[in-house]
Amino acid sequence: MNNVKSNLSNSRILVIGGGIGGLALALALQRRGMPVAVFERAPELGEVGAGVMLTPNATRALEHLGVLGEVEANATLPGLTTVRHFQTGEAMSSTDLGEAFTKQHGHRYYCVHRVDIHQALLKAVIKNDPQCVHTSHEFIDSMEIDGGVRAHFGNGKTVDGGLLVGCDGVRSVVRTKIGFQDGAKFTHNIAWRGLIPVEDLPVHQRGPEITIWSGPKRHVVEYTIRRGRIKNYVAIANSPAWEDEGWSKRSNIGAALREFEDWHQDVRAIIGATPVDRGYVWGLFDRDPLDHWSRGPLTLLGDAAHPMLPFLAQGAAMAIEDAIILARCLEKGSGVALALENYERLRLERTAWCQLQAREAGQLFQRVSKKSELDGDRAARAKQLYGYAADKVAL
Ligand SMILES: Cc1cc2nc3c(=O)[nH]c(=O)nc-3n(C[C@H](O)[C@H](O)[C@H](O)COP(=O)(O)OP(=O)(O)OC[C@H]3O[C@@H](n4cnc5c(N)ncnc54)[C@H](O)[C@@H]3O)c2cc1C
Repeated sequence: MNNVKSNLSNSRILVIGGGIGGLALALALQRRGMPVAVFERAPELGEVGAGVMLTPNATRALEHLGVLGEVEANATLPGLTTVRHFQTGEAMSSTDLGEAFTKQHGHRYYCVHRVDIHQALLKAVIKNDPQCVHTSHEFIDSMEIDGGVRAHFGNGKTVDGGLLVGCDGVRSVVRTKIGFQDGAKFTHNIAWRGLIPVEDLPVHQRGPEITIWSGPKRHVVEYTIRRGRIKNYVAIANSPAWEDEGWSKRSNIGAALREFEDWHQDVRAIIGATPVDRGYVWGLFDRDPLDHWSRGPLTLLGDAAHPMLPFLAQGAAMAIEDAIILARCLEKGSGVALALENYERLRLERTAWCQLQAREAGQLFQRVSKKSELDGDRAARAKQLYGYAADKVAL
């Protein structure tokens, strides 16, 4: 499958995309003394995104990368997740995320702003090498050259390296260069998201815990970030069509309220409190799992390799885990081909499982499930997800 002869001792690893996956990989490589450069199409790496849940496997991975302290400084400790009935508000299932949970899984569960993870990684990468990140570099093509790969960018520049890693997200161009022509499929789910200063909400809605409101064909997830100062919510509903995808399409709060008009007043209070400039809407796209990610000196990582629906809160976690495992495989020094073979062997199954489980989790929350079903489902997944130690897994 992979007959590239490149030896990485004197050639850089080219990372395409400066999102969470790309920056985590750059940092994991730098920490192992390996040369790396990141190429990001955006003119600057700015303040985009909203809430992300950091499960213990992700927290552990950030600790290994040395940035957990920085992320924790702005994080919320939720302490509890409760699934509630969409109309009555009755608690149908609860999971304690406190001390016993932390002891069981080895690390804490946090709610954070995506930007805080991204900025912590960026700061650490630049501290190690101020020249590492190249913005305004949109990857358009690549060709195999003797001992490696040559990347072409939209600004006319070309760069050579020993390996090129596509960390370019759900619409990955690197993925198409590897030979996958599968388009991302619209799942008929759209998500309204909003960020609200907690003082704009009734006092009983300002707590740190995570609440999942479960209703037919719709569900809402809400929690606070930034040490409890900001309420983050995602309200998922069905939609026949969607033309756009992205993180910066402004939402119409009136339309969101109409969609949830028969829902509990606490849900409506949150949606209704969204400041006009802090509400967004996006379509949820999905792809089927792949059976390999690499061709010659090209491979994939994060959403480019395994985009997943957000219902398991594992998109960022899987990208960071990938980064640590890939860096560890490359560090072993037995050449790119073997490193990529090991990387796939260690990561394909787990990430494919997450992709499929994320689909199921969404369906579960959208059919007003029974308590036993909800409890059993969460406990089984938690065990498999949260105990994973990317820094320790045997290579
Ligand atoms: C702007 C943004 C905001 C997000 N906000 C949230 C959020 O609020 N909550 C949440 O749960 N998840 C969010 N996500 C998704 C989450 O961050 C990812 O699922 C997860 O972190 C996996 O990251 P990734 O690095 O694989 O992909 P991404 O985070 O999507 O990063 C991909 C990067 O590649 C760059 N890129 C794309 N194409 C090219 C190209 N041809 N050449 C060079 N660079 C390219 C993109 O600009 C982007 O910076 C967001 C993603 C983005 C891009």
